Amino acid sequence: MTLIVQKYGGTSVGTLERIRAVAERVSASRAQGNDVVVVVSAMAGETNRLLGLGKELSKRPSEREMDSLVATGEQVSAALLAIALSERGVPARSLVGHQTRIFTDGVYTKARIRTIDDAPFRSTINAGAVPVVAGFQGVDAEGNITTLGRGGSDTTGVAIAAALKADVCEIYTDVDGIFTTDPNICKEARKLDRITFEEMLELASLGAKVLQIRSVEIAMKYGIPIHLRSSFSDSQGTIVGAEDKSLESVVVTGVACDKNDVKVTMRELPDKPGIVARVFGSLADNNISVDMIIQTEPRGGKADLTFTVTHSDLARTKDVTERVAREIGAGEVKLHDDVAKVSIVGAGMRSHSGVAAKMFRMLADQKINIQAITTSEIRVSCLIDKKEADQAVRTLHNGFGLG
Ligand code: ADP
Ligand code: ASP
Ligand code: MG
Repeated sequence: MTLIVQKYGGTSVGTLERIRAVAERVSASRAQGNDVVVVVSAMAGETNRLLGLGKELSKRPSEREMDSLVATGEQVSAALLAIALSERGVPARSLVGHQTRIFTDGVYTKARIRTIDDAPFRSTINAGAVPVVAGFQGVDAEGNITTLGRGGSDTTGVAIAAALKADVCEIYTDVDGIFTTDPNICKEARKLDRITFEEMLELASLGAKVLQIRSVEIAMKYGIPIHLRSSFSDSQGTIVGAEDKSLESVVVTGVACDKNDVKVTMRELPDKPGIVARVFGSLADNNISVDMIIQTEPRGGKADLTFTVTHSDLARTKDVTERVAREIGAGEVKLHDDVAKVSIVGAGMRSHSGVAAKMFRMLADQKINIQAITTSEIRVSCLIDKKEADQAVRTLHNGFGLG
């Protein structure tokens, strides 16, 4: 018997009509002889609406209460889908955070899964019913409700697939698969039949929100193939899986863009050992992840430090960096959110030289200024002005012949 975990995103459960269509699809998959576990997101727009309500009441609402608030979005869609399934004659049971026994750490708004107990899913399946799991949420050791970060239902889906050793995790969304770049930004984007875990990991961490990065990490670690596809059609989507060694790797597979970055510049830091460790240590203590980092050549015993963080960490980053700057006797701290990070990704970059130079030349020809650069074995990222981001994506996509 094949065991499939199917995760449905916000647009796929956005209306009652869509929920009925999902029930139909789940029922068809069961009729083909598969065991199915379903994971759902909140109805499209619901998470933002709930976040908005909390923020209307307070500029800095308690993160614990915000997690309790937003987790309700997924509870609603899980219950509605279970009702729709039962109505079609398919026995189903919705399961929310504490019932799924998905235990996380206690970092509200971006908790990490620690353990999953497969018993609630197995017993529901053995009772002949479809478990319909509210995605995005778990509980910490004290029983508080936590959420897994925006887009976190993808991670719920893949983590359950790993815990149950499922054959595949199908992720249903509003596009036909994973494209060479965001099809909603670049009309020439082309659907990929396959992409490696590593390439997808880079794309996801670089702003391709089609999959949450942690879902790809878990899929890679446990070797769970992801089939990303549309819930609006029956067409085959994209398989995210292990690298096929028999094939020559493509040099550039995709282009990604992240408009949620904030550039932080700390001026006139004392140029002595331990200062940078102090800055990044304080950020890490506050669960703030840093991406691009540049330090200028010291002058008169002082150097400037520039790095990027994500927008959701802006307020905390401001507090932490201003405090550390005072403590170490540094100059002013400036935060800019008018930046974007554009990146090219491809497993073939390992064995090809000159790819970064080509990227810089293409941006220069468009008079796009590069403010910071980072690279890995299989990617190059440039921080640029946010206003020029879409133009940069199209330029790189065409320049590397991805259309
Ligand atoms: P869901 O609500 O189903 O989780 P998301 O909005 O989180 O859907 O993710 C799907 C969106 O990801 C698409 O509508 C598309 O705009 C965006 N996206 C960004 N990069 C890519 C890419 N390379 N391929 C496909 N979609 C992408
Ligand atoms: N509903 C959550 C969000 O909007 C989780 C998800 O959709 O995956 O971020
Ligand atoms: Mg998503």
